[in-house]
Order: sequence, then structure tokens, then C-alpha cells
Amino acid sequence: MTTAGTTAAPLRFAPVAEPRLAALPPLAVYVHIPWCVRKCPYCDFNSHEKADALPEREYVDALLGDLESLLPSVWGRRAASVFIGGGTPSLFSPESIARLISELRARLPLEPDAEITLEANPGTAEAARFRGYRDAGVNRLSIGVQSFDDAKLAALGRIHGAREARRAIELALDSFGNVNLDLMYGLPGQALAEARVDLEQAAKSGATQVSAYQLTIEPNTVFHRRPPRLPEHDLCADMQRMAEDTLGAAGYQQYETSAFARAGFRCRHNLNYWQFGDYLGLGAGAHGKLSFAERITRHARVKAPRDYLAAARRGATLAEERVVDARELPFEFMLNALRLVEGFPEQLFAERTGLARSAIEPALGRAAALGLIERDARRVRPSARGRLFLNDLVELFLEKD
Ligand code: SF4
Repeated sequence: MTTAGTTAAPLRFAPVAEPRLAALPPLAVYVHIPWCVRKCPYCDFNSHEKADALPEREYVDALLGDLESLLPSVWGRRAASVFIGGGTPSLFSPESIARLISELRARLPLEPDAEITLEANPGTAEAARFRGYRDAGVNRLSIGVQSFDDAKLAALGRIHGAREARRAIELALDSFGNVNLDLMYGLPGQALAEARVDLEQAAKSGATQVSAYQLTIEPNTVFHRRPPRLPEHDLCADMQRMAEDTLGAAGYQQYETSAFARAGFRCRHNLNYWQFGDYLGLGAGAHGKLSFAERITRHARVKAPRDYLAAARRGATLAEERVVDARELPFEFMLNALRLVEGFPEQLFAERTGLARSAIEPALGRAAALGLIERDARRVRPSARGRLFLNDLVELFLEKD
């Protein structure tokens, strides 16, 4: 990537003290369901083609075991959101999702208006199924549409076509007042006019949020081994601008690099990540972050579904748990918070990391001098240039040895 001129003189960091948190941040729950009908050639998520019937009961038991092992770390706290992601969680029956949500509620109090999202694939959309998820307590559905063009969907290896995509959105809106639609641009051989058609269809779909992502080639994917011909960088940048214009004109407000929502429908679960909140990670390969008065920790579960289930039988799914080094916190915080178009209130850094603002002052000064951020008395936000060179901006907060 081109740089924004950030490689000049090395930054001097003030020595970073240990964190001291005056209050704990909001808490969310992420649940990972790791199976799909078929593995998409671009996907580097922890998702696995399902062979036979899914072990739904055993897997939900394992998720609840993960939760129980974490409860002593979150006594007295309430969760503000639950996100059931994957993989393809809509492969699980409404009965399994109902059991998961009710058993989760029985162990961990949820806020009365907690946002509960489930990811669904248009290839698994049925009216009765969606109603079942709603009755189970899901109040937000996220649909992986990706494109409304049959040829592009086939190139992406998706199991659905444009008709199924439109039908899934209709069914979702029949059962849910809050529906996110995932769309991708920069697809193999995609022209600007084709991206426009996709964006226009998304904009008039009735979804409360559209998440528009650029297709990227990730290691360990089929596309990495056999790369398709993707649009050039400049064309993709034009598509991103087109997404901002098209969705903006249709009343969607961009609040994060890829997220565009109608008023009142920003994804609270994702906002909690970007505002450096806490979350429990349940399920195969799930990651979590927890804050305590004097430390911030991260945890991760055994990744491969079969190994995870075997570990769950032994009550030992934890693969990693570590205290985040205080010197990493400025970078970790900025990696999230600077994705937000509106940035963050200055005091949020101290609230969420437990570090003094002096820990980031030199890097903030450098970022402002380079025109990568804008600051006023209350907020720090990425400038238009900062959003364009987000990696360079965030790297300014990396502690160099
Ligand atoms: S459906 Fe989603 S999670 Fe599953 S393989 Fe495709 S992109 Fe990955």
C-alpha cells in the first residue's frame, strides 16, 4: 500500500504504566457456529463444510460449558448484545437456537433490550425457520447476500442465486424489524456499472443496515492458490466511493469503514468491538476480551470443530488466555476506534484501556501533523485522508522497540 508519509523520525513513547480501569466497559457475547453447506473459495473464516447431520445438541452443550467457565470472570455484569455468527448459524434449527438463547439468559443476565443477531445464508432461508429464530429471541438478522448478480455469485462459489437473495431479504423483513445485508464489491471481473446495480438493489432492499465489503484475497483460501482477476485498486476505490454516495443518498449513514445504517439501527454488537468494549467468545475458535480493574485479557477456544467438541467433553476448550501487555493497548484501541467515521471521545481511551492519555499524546500529535486525524475539544476522528490510509494511521500507535 502507498504510505501517508509516516516513516520519518521514530516516535518517542512515554513509558506506559500498568492499566487502572475506573469502570468496566459494556459486555457482549459472541457465539461461533463453524459449519457451512460449502466452503466459499474466498473465505478465511473458521468455517468448515458440513459432512453429515450437525451435532447441534452437543455443540450447544459445549457453548454453555464455555459460558460457565467464564462466568466467575463476569459476575454481576449484564450483556448488552449477543451475536451468533459463523460459519452459517442458520444451519442450526430454531429449536437449538431457542435452547442456546434461553440457557444463556438463565446463566448470564442480558439487558432488557439486548440486541440478539443471527447470521443467515440466503441458501438456507425459509419463512418458518426465520419465524422460529424470532420466537427464539433473535431480534436482528444478518443476511450474507454478497451480490444480486447470478454470475458473480457463481464466481464466489455461493450456494444461492439472485432470486434466493431477494427472497431471503423479503422473508427476513417479514419476521424482523432489524435486518443487515452483507454485500461485497471488487468481485472477479466486476465493472463499475455492475457494482452500481448491486448497491442500488441493496439501497432499496428495505434492510436497516448494509455492510459493503471489498473482496480481498486472503492466505489459505482457494482464491489465494488460484487468484481470480479482480478489479484494479483505483476501480475498487471508485466502488467504495460509489457505496458511500449510493447508500448515503438512500438514507443510510456510514458510521464505520464498511457499515451503513438507517438512523437508530447501528449494530450495537459491532460498535462495542470498535469502542473497545468487552466480549465473551463461545464456540470453536471464538475469541474474547475481558477487562478487570488492573488488567485486560484475551482468550481463544480450540479452533477445529472436531477438536473443540473433543475438548469440550474434557471441559478444556480454552486454547489461549493472556494478559494484554500495556504497551499493546494504544495500538489495539486505535485499531478499533479509528475505524469509526465519528472517531471517539478523547476520554474513552483512558476509560477503556486504563492508561493515561499521555500514552498516546505523541502519536496523536504526529497523526494530526500528517493530516490523518481531526481533533476538537471533545473528539478524535480520522480525517478523510486518515480513512484512506487507515493502516498507516493505526501504525503510529504501535510501540516500536
Ligand atoms: S458462507 Fe460465509 S462463512 Fe461460510 S464459507 Fe461462505 S463466506 Fe465463509
